[in-house]
Amino acid sequence: MKKYLVIALALIVGGCSIAQQNQSTETNAARRPKIIVGITVDQMRYDYIERFWDDFGNDGFKRLVNDGFFARNLHYNYMPTYTGPGHAAIYTGTSPAYNGIIANDWYERTTKKMVYCSSDSTVAGVGTASAAGKMSPHYLKSTTLGDELKLFTNGKSKVIGVALKDRGAILPAGRSADAAYWFVGAQEGVWATSNWYRNELPQWVSDFNASGKAADYMKQTWTPYLTPDRYSKSSADNNPYELPYKGTIRPTFPYVLDSLKALNGGYELLKATPFGNTMSVDFALAALTGEQMGQDEYTDMLCLSFSATDYVGHQFGMHSMETQDVYVRLDLEIARLLKELDARYGKDNYLLFLSADHAGAPTPSYTSSLKWSAGYWKSDVMEGELNAFLQSKYGEGNYIESEVNQNIFLNRPLLEQKKVDITQVNKEVVAFLSKYDEIMTAYTTEEIRMGAQDPILNRIRLGFSSKWSGDVIYVLNPDYMEYGRQGTTHGSPFIYDTHVPALFYGFGVTPGTSFEAQTICDIAPTVAAICKLPLPNACIGQPIKSCVK
Ligand code: ZN
Ligand code: ZN
Ligand code: ZN
Repeated sequence: MKKYLVIALALIVGGCSIAQQNQSTETNAARRPKIIVGITVDQMRYDYIERFWDDFGNDGFKRLVNDGFFARNLHYNYMPTYTGPGHAAIYTGTSPAYNGIIANDWYERTTKKMVYCSSDSTVAGVGTASAAGKMSPHYLKSTTLGDELKLFTNGKSKVIGVALKDRGAILPAGRSADAAYWFVGAQEGVWATSNWYRNELPQWVSDFNASGKAADYMKQTWTPYLTPDRYSKSSADNNPYELPYKGTIRPTFPYVLDSLKALNGGYELLKATPFGNTMSVDFALAALTGEQMGQDEYTDMLCLSFSATDYVGHQFGMHSMETQDVYVRLDLEIARLLKELDARYGKDNYLLFLSADHAGAPTPSYTSSLKWSAGYWKSDVMEGELNAFLQSKYGEGNYIESEVNQNIFLNRPLLEQKKVDITQVNKEVVAFLSKYDEIMTAYTTEEIRMGAQDPILNRIRLGFSSKWSGDVIYVLNPDYMEYGRQGTTHGSPFIYDTHVPALFYGFGVTPGTSFEAQTICDIAPTVAAICKLPLPNACIGQPIKSCVK
């Protein structure tokens, strides 16, 4: 008996050492994929995967879910849930408090001006002379996966960002990316970059711009892809909760782009239709070819964002036929992309992940018709009343320097001049705000810095910068927003904005599903773990262990 045990043990130990030997003789290149493809779907809610499941083909989202790993309980862990911060968080593995992208647009106290998360007055556009080209990642304070990849391979890896929106291309790719390309609308209709990255467009980008593709898409008519009965899970096409395109009366199919473009921003219109997503895949594939990505022993990275879903979501809301249709068509684009990646690299030689930069709220005018607690907010009314309140206490003056993203910036010089203790005023502002039914809660900067177990306060803290955020931050009730009564938006710390899909597929991924609590900051460390790469420098997330092979 003992003898057999010894033999069995020897076999096990022997087996292990052979396996270890195999592992240690594996080349460095074989230890990571030829290419990492990150996909961000702008404004994609987690439940869209399930709502539109029967409408999807087998080769797009379903392939990622069935053959990949699906983190089904992954959330943004901060407020505000906007596009710039969302794209940055996915690729930096950290929150706005640590990567510096605290909103899309924020108020800069030092200059008393609004700044935009990817604007940079010191750079020039390449491929466009318009202001749309003066963009860079200079506000990004921490590294992305791509930055670390480049450092890891001594710059041999190529990192490229592609999106219709500049911030959707720039923030994922990072500061040391080879390039980020975005689509310039208006009368131009071209893909451009800035001299942060390079001084001339590569030939393949010039060729793409000269190909007339954008002009061709502008000649399209957007009609529902599926038969009418398949849209019964959405509201009727014509309803008061959708915003018609400019120059039209009803928000209804068909949308003839040529007749809409003059009043809807020229080529900007393309961004708000499924054709914008299709063109993004065309451009991404041109990038893979033009840059010879995934062709050598050094892992490359493509950061691709689908921005059209967000424009459509804002315009028509989450229950519209238009939103359903843009996802049905996106599914086809994902299938096309996967097929191309299979052909170029082989099924197991690329790692793909997909998530969203935020989700989106149901349209409050619609949900109030369903008897939900929901509604709208006007911050300028509150601002006037708050200023009058502070005047009654401390005398004449303009006490509010700015109010943006539910951040109230008090006039600190005025308070100093009046020798008023600002921490005291902050508390008074919080108390004052409690009189508004639309506001759920408010916190002073002092309370936010201390942090707390309170989940909402913690989300504010992770999205807060003591340098750049306001003196008081307030939160509206669930499904309340400062927005028009048609279409929808995002930005809150609530589930409808925080819950996004997260899918991992291909190289090094263990297929499966998880309902464990994960945050958006866990995506980058998961990718880093799969590819045995260093973590972005301000990462606060953890790898999703069950997904890593
Ligand atoms: Zn977005
Ligand atoms: Zn409609
Ligand atoms: Zn948006």
